[in-house]
Amino acid sequence: MAASLLPAAASSVEARDPLLAYGARIVGDDARTRIVIDFDREPRFSVHYIANPERIVVDLPATAFGFPAKDLAARGLFKDIRYGKMDEESARIVLTTAGPVKLALAKVQADETGNGHRLVLDAEMIDKKAFAELVKTQSWSDRTEAAQTTSAIPAPQKAAPGDFVIAVDAGHGGIDTGAIGVDTKTEEKQVTLAFAKALTDRLNKEPGIKAFLTREDDEFLSLSQRVLIARQNHAGLFISLHADTLKQKDIRGATVYTISDKASDKLAADLAERENLSDQIAGKETVAEPPEVADILLDLTRRETQAFSISLAESVLNSFKDQVGTINNPHRHAGFRVLQAPDVPSILLEIGFLSNAEDEKLLLDEAWRGKIAGLLTDAVKRYRAAVMANGG
Ligand SMILES: [Zn+2]
Repeated sequence: MAASLLPAAASSVEARDPLLAYGARIVGDDARTRIVIDFDREPRFSVHYIANPERIVVDLPATAFGFPAKDLAARGLFKDIRYGKMDEESARIVLTTAGPVKLALAKVQADETGNGHRLVLDAEMIDKKAFAELVKTQSWSDRTEAAQTTSAIPAPQKAAPGDFVIAVDAGHGGIDTGAIGVDTKTEEKQVTLAFAKALTDRLNKEPGIKAFLTREDDEFLSLSQRVLIARQNHAGLFISLHADTLKQKDIRGATVYTISDKASDKLAADLAERENLSDQIAGKETVAEPPEVADILLDLTRRETQAFSISLAESVLNSFKDQVGTINNPHRHAGFRVLQAPDVPSILLEIGFLSNAEDEKLLLDEAWRGKIAGLLTDAVKRYRAAVMANGG
């Protein structure tokens, strides 16, 4: 193996420079499909299988994906292919398959010149039982999910006692690009991060307010990690920012969502369903939710938190009045998993829709971003004043 010929310093070089995946090809049909990815040096990789839906996850060290997306468009056994950054040290390819499959071959080979390093993945159909066996018997020990989960969580922020702490959550990130704009192909994860940074900076100009970002760059955070980060930092508010797409391209404007078991309408239900797919896109295992324990105290906390969330949503819409366009019935609710902290009032703001060309223009406009950040800050201040007046 070439790896043994590398100098001892190779691993630290790898930590500094991401691998470059500079080419990709996919060939085959729905019985057997081959993927080839060209790397600038030998990639370490590991393969795992996840059920519900069936996916193959290929974990890599930090990697820059430099080939055109169309070169690795889903076909054959694969119905969806995603790749991107997970955190500073790792990247991932998630292959969602049309049914149970396994990699009959997964290895790094030299190219025709004898120098390059190409990762070759040959997938073939297997039966359901064989796939279940693969999932059950595999080991995650080399790059465990647990390790990735803890490494992404930043240390608690230093807030002064009495500070009002606000978690600002840029939706999506890393391998999960979120929605893609109609005109400029803008990625939602970039829009949300730009708004989150603007809002955090603006909020931090206010005395007594300490805002922080759940993610500071283009990395993947699971939905539960986002909630956990807010809670560990003792956030008094959680604001998740999004700019999704709708099938109805003429719909534009902002919407504020709060959590509820029952969605307010079909649009809200569909949106929550898509948002909740984030973990699946990134190749996270679906963890069965523990059965709800009948806990009267937790129930009370939840109800109180929900009332606060609703009051923040209304404050935001008051600020937006005559300033920012909103959709009809702009306060809606649905079962967004990112809003599920029982003790942190939380809203999800769809700033606008990337499916609408005019909204897309606004979403890329720095001045408009500053305006939204200012209006949201006003809303937070009004909310806070009302809570304090009520002895909160
Ligand atoms: Zn989104």
